[in-house]
Amino acid sequence: MIYDDNNVFARILRGEIPCKKVYEDTHTLAFEDINPLAPVHTLVIPKGKYVCMTDFIEKALDAEIAALQRAIVKVADIKGVKDSGYRVCANTGVEGGQEVPHLHFHVFGGRPLGRVLARP
Ligand code: AMP
Repeated sequence: MIYDDNNVFARILRGEIPCKKVYEDTHTLAFEDINPLAPVHTLVIPKGKYVCMTDFIEKALDAEIAALQRAIVKVADIKGVKDSGYRVCANTGVEGGQEVPHLHFHVFGGRPLGRVLARP
């Protein structure tokens, strides 16, 4: 998979575009979604150049994968939804509805979220 260095999250990681940071560690960055769909809507991304979930799992170090998963739960805790419940979602590829080609996990919460997918 070819990584586009000019995608918006690559630019956030380089500091070229601002973000509302929620959490950061060696391998991950979490920041508020610019167009929130729930009272809590935070994005958690790896700092490495991974296009999507498939790319990440096929190429990333175990330490990067573990850090990202742990960061998601840290974000849920920071945002106050760890106990009330939350949803984690990584849209992947064209039919998965992925728009930004840098892996990101959405963390949604703060209200009852209903079913995962609307019935067609
Ligand atoms: P997806 O459809 O899964 O690729 O989600 C991309 C998400 O990135 C959307 O929820 C957008 O609102 C969000 N987004 C796009 N640009 C920015 C930005 N500059 N800062 C924060 N979130 C963004």
